[in-house]
Amino acid sequence: MKTIIFATGNPGKVREVKEILTGFHVITMMEAGLSPEIIEDGASFEENAVIKARAVYDAIKAREAAGDPAFDFAYCMADDSGLEIDYFDKKPGIYSSRWLGEDTSYDIKNGIVLSEMEDVPDEKRTARYVCSIAALDAEGTSTVVTEACEGIIGHEPKGEGGFGYDPIFYIPGLGTFAEISSAAKHEVSHRGKALRAILPLLKEI
Ligand code: IMP
Repeated sequence: MKTIIFATGNPGKVREVKEILTGFHVITMMEAGLSPEIIEDGASFEENAVIKARAVYDAIKAREAAGDPAFDFAYCMADDSGLEIDYFDKKPGIYSSRWLGEDTSYDIKNGIVLSEMEDVPDEKRTARYVCSIAALDAEGTSTVVTEACEGIIGHEPKGEGGFGYDPIFYIPGLGTFAEISSAAKHEVSHRGKALRAILPLLKEI
């Protein structure tokens, strides 16, 4: 089975990526014993996804150069994702995890979004999750795909599943991403779509 080393420390992403990429041996950078410094200073989801995957790739190559046995991996992958809220001019976008403070809980962040949008009618509550997935092969060649999932910001938080902004991200006719099953989320989500879109583009899979 091919090993994919995934560059994330976000437990919500780890769970989802492992659920979606069934049939692959997915290990996180921490599970691989790697903790590279990742400076996410790209200007787009695509650039940041490549920066993260490249940081893990470089950490593996540095280990190899230092005499550690080579990691047997097919790809280093990374996800850069975020929520674009049209009412806030597509913010928080690439800054979604840092927005309103890195250590601020999502209960508080979601509460602030809802109170700032209290009187905003449904047609102006449009939003989308965006996800770029980058994959670097053993030679360091990158492939990147980006997918989005359109929805609206609900009027109150609903559901206990998912993570991050999911309790306020509502798909009309389906519910919030925190209310529906994880399988139902993966079918329509930015992350599910992007991971399924990149697989046919990869040679070693
Ligand atoms: P990143 O780790 O820099 O890519 O930041 C991703 C951030 O975007 C997360 O920490 C969440 O704030 C938000 N986000 C991305 N995808 C999702 C999702 O599926 N559900 C909820 N929040 C998400």
